[in-house]
Amino acid sequence: MNIDGKNVSLKRKDEIKQKIQQLQNEGKRIPKLVVILVGNNQASQVYVRNKEKACAYVGMLSEIMRLDESVLEDELIQVIERLNHDETVDGILVQLPLPQHIHEEKILDLIDPKKDVDGFHPINVAKLFLGQDGLVPCTPQGMMVLLDEIHYDLTGKEVVVVGRSNIVGKPVSLLCLQRNATVTIAHSRTENLKEVCQRADVLIAAIGQAKFFTKDYVKPGAVVLDVGMDRDENDKLCGDVDYQDVKDIVSYITPVPGGIGPMTIAMLLENTLKAYYNREE
Ligand code: NDP
Repeated sequence: MNIDGKNVSLKRKDEIKQKIQQLQNEGKRIPKLVVILVGNNQASQVYVRNKEKACAYVGMLSEIMRLDESVLEDELIQVIERLNHDETVDGILVQLPLPQHIHEEKILDLIDPKKDVDGFHPINVAKLFLGQDGLVPCTPQGMMVLLDEIHYDLTGKEVVVVGRSNIVGKPVSLLCLQRNATVTIAHSRTENLKEVCQRADVLIAAIGQAKFFTKDYVKPGAVVLDVGMDRDENDKLCGDVDYQDVKDIVSYITPVPGGIGPMTIAMLLENTLKAYYNREE
């Protein structure tokens, strides 16, 4: 059965909309997200536009700062420092990837952890590691919401996460561990990947390879969360999982599009609202 991320994301956005409406009714300040986009990367432009639209939908203030591809690292640093000190700004997101001449890690480390709505700052990463309350990366958080949606209890379950990136694989592994799952993190050097995946009650596919996971990777009845945003042979958006091949043997699967993708944006709005409440306290 499909897990309808689009629908769940809409529900979460409507809840945020109500909360913002309430702030408005009370004459309070409205939360604000600033997205910094450097250069002309086409995919990034689409992602940023979607974030802007989502903010408008829930009534959140947003500003897109478009900087030229040739912007100097120092100039970008100054922009972030200014936003860190701007009392009206609750969330700062630097759209990745950045041009080669800019040191990505250095830039992300500069964002005030309280405004780090992507959850990539080392302080927030450490909080996630320690199980403390912080800002959690959006895509992994969205996956947990989808598991909640199907009332799936991870306690004691075998979760196999394929992919070990800092933005998806590692954080989602920690979230599953927090929920008492037995977690295996697999990657490109994993031996016998098929056998490892076949153990999974929950298979999380996050490798960025179109339709890689066929049914021989999937245990019948498993829950499959497909993070991939890939292009198939016809240049159509698809996931890391061969949906047609596995759909009849899984208990649940997130489709692409319409699965995890929409959740990421909803969680970005939730993080911004959380940052707002934390700052207002
Ligand atoms: P990265 O490229 O940073 O990481 C990919 C990971 O997959 C690496 O750990 C790599 O291993 C592993 N890997 C690659 N090929 C294989 C293979 N054949 N077998 C086993 N492991 C493999 O990707 P991201 O984590 O950033 O993204 C993963 C996918 O999720 C992409 O399709 C991306 O577009 C999508 N995505 C979707 C989001 C959404 O909102 N839906 C948000 C973020 C990402 P190694 O470390 O050994 O190199």
